[in-house]
Amino acid sequence: MKKPNRKCIFSIDVEDWFHILDLPSTPDITQWDALESRVENNFQRLLDVLSEKKVFATCFFLGWIAEKYPHLVREAKARGHEIASHGYSHRLVYQTTAQEFFQDARRSKMILEDLTGTSVSGYRASGFSVTPQTPWFFEKLMESGYVYDASVFPARRGHGGMRTRRYAPYVIKDGSKEILEFPVSVAEVLGIPVCFFGGGYLRLFPYFLIRKMAYRVLKENRPLIFYLHPREIDPDHPRLPMNLQRRFKSYVNLKTTWQKIDRILGSFPFMTFETYIKEYKASLEDDKDADPR
Ligand SMILES: [Zn+2]
Repeated sequence: MKKPNRKCIFSIDVEDWFHILDLPSTPDITQWDALESRVENNFQRLLDVLSEKKVFATCFFLGWIAEKYPHLVREAKARGHEIASHGYSHRLVYQTTAQEFFQDARRSKMILEDLTGTSVSGYRASGFSVTPQTPWFFEKLMESGYVYDASVFPARRGHGGMRTRRYAPYVIKDGSKEILEFPVSVAEVLGIPVCFFGGGYLRLFPYFLIRKMAYRVLKENRPLIFYLHPREIDPDHPRLPMNLQRRFKSYVNLKTTWQKIDRILGSFPFMTFETYIKEYKASLEDDKDADPR
């Protein structure tokens, strides 16, 4: 089967510095409006470096951010990036009911579709917090009209994580409906899956190691998915109070992330999830055409 030959995807979860999850100090949504905002500047810087490197990214917008800063969504769209959804209120999936989750996922989709005038096909859960304890997750996403999901974290994780050992994209079916799952990219180290391509590990590890692990993923013919938050390129953003371990994970190497991202963006041939899916479907069509039967 022919597969798309460029298989790197750069994704941004568009949220602010106070959206770090699962802390006693994580502010409630009712407090967000009163907090200093850094996302506008940080996201704008990211849009500029993406333009400079001629990279199209997938931007998973928090619905709350999209409502407050609609110009960010419009500008990302105008520059050719894919607009996708990060839910509305950034709640951990396993702390919501199926119905609450459905309403949140649908609400952000509608806001983003109103702003862009096009359909939004992708979803990513806050904190990759889909777990075996939320079996309704995929069914509710299908019901909300999403085409693909990028929320499964097939490795150990503080909140969420599903140790499925399924690292390549796969289709999940429910009756006549289906959704395409893109698990977060991981590479196995001594048999243990580790994500080098986003969050604390991306900031912690040196570029040469990330590149080595990236080639390992590509060699296994899987898409290589990077993810980033706008706050991660902003070393001076305000900090939330947290214990030492979480502080390390949340804030390690913020000063060097910008350089690393600049290098990554210049080194891999990136595309959006939407383009990946389109090319993949086209390759299946080609195969059908070539079928002698
Ligand atoms: Zn998030």
